[in-house]
Amino acid sequence: MLEKAPNGKVSSVLNSLDEALCAGEVERAVHLFQEDCYWRDLVTFTWNIKTMEGKKQVRDMLNARLADTKPSDWKIAAGEDATEADGITESWIQFETEVARGFGHMRLKDGRIWTLLTTMSELKGHEEAVGFDRPMGAKHGAERNRKTWKEDREAEAAELGYSRQPYCVVVGGGQGGIALGARLRQLNVPTIIIEKNERPGDSWRKRYKSLCLHDPVWYDHLPYLPFPRNWPVFSPKDKIGDWLEMYTKVMELNYWGSSECKKASYDEKSREWTVVVQRGDKEIVLKPKQLVLATGMSAKPNLPKIEGMDVFKGDQHHSSLHPGPDKYKDKKAVVIGSNNSAHDICAALWEAGADVTMVQRSTTHIVKSDSLMELGLASLYSEQAVQSGMTTAKADLIFASLPYKILHEFQIPVYNAIRERDAEFYRRLEKVGFLLDYGDDDSGLFMKYLRRGSGYYIDVGASELVANGSIKLKSGVDVKKLTEHSVILSDGTELPADLVVYATGYGSMNGWAADLISREVADKVGKAWGLGSNTTKDPGPWEGEQRNMWKPTQQEALWFHGGNLHQSRHYSQFLSLQLKARMEGIPTPVYGLQQVHHLG
Ligand SMILES: Cc1cc2nc3c(=O)[nH]c(=O)nc-3n(C[C@H](O)[C@H](O)[C@H](O)COP(=O)(O)OP(=O)(O)OC[C@H]3O[C@@H](n4cnc5c(N)ncnc54)[C@H](O)[C@@H]3O)c2cc1C
Repeated sequence: MLEKAPNGKVSSVLNSLDEALCAGEVERAVHLFQEDCYWRDLVTFTWNIKTMEGKKQVRDMLNARLADTKPSDWKIAAGEDATEADGITESWIQFETEVARGFGHMRLKDGRIWTLLTTMSELKGHEEAVGFDRPMGAKHGAERNRKTWKEDREAEAAELGYSRQPYCVVVGGGQGGIALGARLRQLNVPTIIIEKNERPGDSWRKRYKSLCLHDPVWYDHLPYLPFPRNWPVFSPKDKIGDWLEMYTKVMELNYWGSSECKKASYDEKSREWTVVVQRGDKEIVLKPKQLVLATGMSAKPNLPKIEGMDVFKGDQHHSSLHPGPDKYKDKKAVVIGSNNSAHDICAALWEAGADVTMVQRSTTHIVKSDSLMELGLASLYSEQAVQSGMTTAKADLIFASLPYKILHEFQIPVYNAIRERDAEFYRRLEKVGFLLDYGDDDSGLFMKYLRRGSGYYIDVGASELVANGSIKLKSGVDVKKLTEHSVILSDGTELPADLVVYATGYGSMNGWAADLISREVADKVGKAWGLGSNTTKDPGPWEGEQRNMWKPTQQEALWFHGGNLHQSRHYSQFLSLQLKARMEGIPTPVYGLQQVHHLG
């Protein structure tokens, strides 16, 4: 009986919650929460991605949303048992609302709810056709002139966007657009993905030659179709490109390659977008109800304006356009920047026999890939995790269950341990003048990613080249100007150069809205990404969730989707359900629509 004690505790809280919520007694429900509680809701109560922090915010949300959410049937998830460690009882939970089935996670402290995650699994009556409900494929029986699967697919491709309008247009067919497209396909939401490159996967193929994913395979699965067990830990970029191309085909996506979205505008009266697409040599006008920009958060290059760029006689380009090192053997290369792309490009140039200098203006967080894998990711995303029964879905939900407000507190000890373990490595880098940081509050790589999406390098070898002087380093300096054949730094140093690479990062995704829709709409929705943590490049006020990503924006029917493979996989579920609900006419009153504090 003893081992069932945690189940008893969780069931008792869930029963009380169920009773209070069914009776509409908000105060009774709020009483079940800790003072410093967090309730993160992915679409079930709020039709938003929102974290309620503290009892007051929980109370306000319930007062606004309880009556028509009509939650019920809260219980420990089928087949799961609650667990207990270090004074925290945790459990997978399930529940229903009037229109959806939900799954979640709960942590109890001193018998009250400390963290609660509620996520929408499916809309009632609009479930995905899986398992017992999977399609037959074959049409048994006999019928004159019936069409094959191939003929049906061809007819759909000929019709959608021409004689029949898609409900949704996704601009950008990288991994983000593809993952979202796959979810929408399963939910029967007619969708076209518009991609200016020729083939799915090209956004990876076109990146610099040496690129391999920095995240390991366990973190990178796409929805529905995990990588096979022999897939390499770190996918080479062309291999991931091929996987995306295969995936697009087998998931039966309506993917328009060689098609560029030229502009889009929204008619508030007809509540419809007009999207102008250049498809090959034809201009096509689409009229979807929903528009998703999946144009990439690492895709809008930040190119600095530096005096003399117009007179420089060598090659110069942003890192996103760097072709690879082959033609730079014995040439002098200057790489401006010191984050991931800069390191990867410097290492590849050095391998090809170029003379390379990295210019570092400000501090960079470096973490060795091995250490990140072992100390940062292993418990959720690793072969050991898989062997001990951790699924990708559960790992994603555990990660989602840690509120952003306190996530750094969980991260700081991890990076402290990494600093200790790799102390000699960091000492050697500092010795050659490399400027290190570990995040403003020492919370390391993942917080930097969530807050600003930049400022780090996952070391897969380039740091050794910096430490031993193979890659030359100029740190604490800026670029003053370029001459015909050199780069002049702010300390007066002149670096002769045949090649200058600007590894200077990327701009906010709402820049895409400015390009494709209007400056007015870009300003109306404001900056995308970041938490408002008031740390470098993530100005406050505190938002509690990533700005504008995967959730309603200030522009009706305009959505942003993207991020790394983990985020594309996980959040495409909630974005696709929001879109499906709108298509089906299910009321989706948004609670706590974010305010705009920064334009871009
Ligand atoms: C060097 C580098 C390394 C990275 N390493 C990793 C990693 O290891 N793991 C990881 O998970 N993430 C990584 N990322 C981050 C991120 O996952 C990738 O940037 C990823 O490609 C993002 O996918 P996406 O679909 O959101 O955007 P993208 O892949 O950038 O796709 C956006 C697409 O939109 C298209 N597009 C843009 N405008 C238009 C238009 N007007 N009309 C039609 N099409 C348009 C583009 O052609 C592009 O194909 C890395 C990023 C970079 C730059």
